[in-house]
Amino acid sequence: MTELPDRRLLLVHAHPDDESINNGATMARYAAEGAHVTLVTCTLGERGEVIPPELAHLTGAALGRHRRRELDAAMAELGVQDVRLLGGAGRYSDSGMMGLPDNDDPACFWQADVDEAAAHLVEVIREVRPQVLVTYDDNGGYGHPDHIQAHRVAMRAAELSAEAGWKIPKVYWNRVPRSVVEQSFARLQDDLPGLPFAKSAAVDDVPGVVADERVTTVVDGTAHAAAKAAAMRAHATQITVAEPYFVLSNELAQPILTTEYYELVRGERGPGERETDLFAGVEEAS
Ligand SMILES: [Zn+2]
Repeated sequence: MTELPDRRLLLVHAHPDDESINNGATMARYAAEGAHVTLVTCTLGERGEVIPPELAHLTGAALGRHRRRELDAAMAELGVQDVRLLGGAGRYSDSGMMGLPDNDDPACFWQADVDEAAAHLVEVIREVRPQVLVTYDDNGGYGHPDHIQAHRVAMRAAELSAEAGWKIPKVYWNRVPRSVVEQSFARLQDDLPGLPFAKSAAVDDVPGVVADERVTTVVDGTAHAAAKAAAMRAHATQITVAEPYFVLSNELAQPILTTEYYELVRGERGPGERETDLFAGVEEAS
């Protein structure tokens, strides 16, 4: 087996762009510190809405291929080299928003057998042996079927890989403390007249918002703010960036958070009131 760095971080996401929005600063920081960062993306986001009119002709498989290139460009900005599509590119397709007929497409990720999809992820886990796994909460952060399924598959794969000989020491869900979101939206209200965006999103539109006390871990990625913004910009079909804000296809402005937050759900919490390092307390070189 090839030698991997001592610290290994695995992130599981639903679509290209989710990783940069949720964890871009974290990924850039750990990559810069020499950790091995592996991203597994479950679908190519073939049903995503395209923002730029000049790219609006892209749909389905053509959009998926385009978004795969956007993902590579984003990962170049973050310094992340190990990027994989769950089960190989095109194995699982985007399920579309909850409640649409798209959800019934047998090829879509929402229809995937969780154990079978998890088996693909177990292969990656056994190869990389991550000490830290990051994914969404059981609502997928905001209820998108692919995000919910990514959560199920990641949590199941963690179980199965433990049975197969590699127990991931720490598992986290993406979170944002409500107070942080409220403060950043208050600033956004003040800044809105100067922005190219007409309207603000609401606090509860931000995936993973929870009561502050649920948040166990804070990763300060402010030194990597530019890399995160550049990675988000690379997902041009999905995101318009005007630092320190962005919009998705709904055109509702949100803050770009460069300090990222997590809830430890498996494993032992490191020292301090809140951890400041996802690897806190992890024995290295295992
Ligand atoms: Zn997504």
